[in-house]
Amino acid sequence: MPKTSRIPGFYKLTPEERLRIVAEFAGLTEEEVDLLRRFGALDESTANRMIENVIGAFQLPIGVAVNFLINGRDYMIPMVIEEPSVVAAASNAARMTREGGGVYAQSTESLMIGQIQILGVKDPHGARFEILKNKDEILEIANEKDPVLVKLGGGAKDLEVRVVESKLGPMLIVHLIVDVKDAMGANAVNTMAEAVAPRLASIAGGRFRLRIISNLADKRLVRAWTRIPPEAVGGKEVAEGIVEAWAFADADPYRAATHNKGIMNGVDAVVIATGNDWRAVEAGAHAYAARSGRYKSLSTWEIDEKGYLVGTLEMPLAVGIVGGATRTNPLARICLKILGVKSAKELAEVIGAVGLVQNLAALRALAAEGIQAGHMSLHAKNIAIMAGAVGDEIDQVAEIMVREKCVRVDKAKEILERIRKEKAKR
Ligand code: NAD
Repeated sequence: MPKTSRIPGFYKLTPEERLRIVAEFAGLTEEEVDLLRRFGALDESTANRMIENVIGAFQLPIGVAVNFLINGRDYMIPMVIEEPSVVAAASNAARMTREGGGVYAQSTESLMIGQIQILGVKDPHGARFEILKNKDEILEIANEKDPVLVKLGGGAKDLEVRVVESKLGPMLIVHLIVDVKDAMGANAVNTMAEAVAPRLASIAGGRFRLRIISNLADKRLVRAWTRIPPEAVGGKEVAEGIVEAWAFADADPYRAATHNKGIMNGVDAVVIATGNDWRAVEAGAHAYAARSGRYKSLSTWEIDEKGYLVGTLEMPLAVGIVGGATRTNPLARICLKILGVKSAKELAEVIGAVGLVQNLAALRALAAEGIQAGHMSLHAKNIAIMAGAVGDEIDQVAEIMVREKCVRVDKAKEILERIRKEKAKR
């Protein structure tokens, strides 16, 4: 019988029943089934409520990055990631930033955008004004949906209306601006967007289609910056190398993608550890990086008039400490406790600082290794000359010593002798 993945009612089964079916389908061994059965800290019933069709719980290591001084306060940073070196690099670079007083970070209010698409409007520009005229009524309809949020001082705060040209002609796009306080906010905003859509469509004389949050959360930004004495990163030349590495990323999208990936190594690891939606944060980060029309670096690196290395990072960060999986996953709760953050704003600031520090770690390694290799080849040339090499021989001897990672006069003499013998043979 051919295998089929068409399994009606799969979702109604227990994790154990589903696991049996999958084991049969994929030919899993009993050991493999046993591994999947081990739910761990995320127990079966919790996991089974978090997503659909659960058969197990996937694990990743939690590491803790140390040395972080953010806004004058010490933090331990739980990071969930599969990639080696990230946690060590973060701890190492965080130590360097301490030499300049650590990292400073600030965030805007937790303002998210809900988009409502209105179609078939004859006079979109006139309708835009009609909608804005009825702003208070629209906000009231939205806020009726989330009294908890409103009581906390949050809720729908403003409206923006855009006329967006599309392949189907002009569309009226309404932005509902919602202060989601300590939540990531997607559910809250989507509920409000759905509630206001019929009224918006009737005011505009059109019909609504999409009602959904925007992950380009450019009203919910975090800004992190640091100012480090050059000695802390390995000297003036390394500091200059970091700036050159950044300028490359700023000028070239191919490099910018990898540069920003380095930032996201740190950002995502904390976003995941705290049970937040890393796809939302990723989507926001990259859309923000491309806001000028060209994909660019999320950070900047400069050297100030005193020779200090100055790094800044600005990006959207829609993360919460309530809602979503932040409370349902017990490990996320523990990670939030390790961080000791009291609000979503503070969490965003910590994550922004981690992103900047992770960026510093990557750029320093790239710039310093390059510089060291450069130093090594200069040094090797000197040694080659000392061994008696002349003309082209200098480069040849130096290159072999660097490649063989052995830069010594005796080695240089040995290589020189070999080169000369080979030359004589030709
Ligand atoms: P949620 O609905 O679970 O929690 C938010 C609610 O908690 C608020 O509406 C409010 O009523 C209540 N609340 C209690 N105390 C609060 C406080 N101090 N601050 C703010 N709210 C408080 O979750 P959410 O944050 O609205 O949505 C997050 C989830 O939505 C994530 O799991 C995400 O993956 C998912 N999601 C994302 C997208 C997207 O990014 N495009 C789309 C749909 C769903």
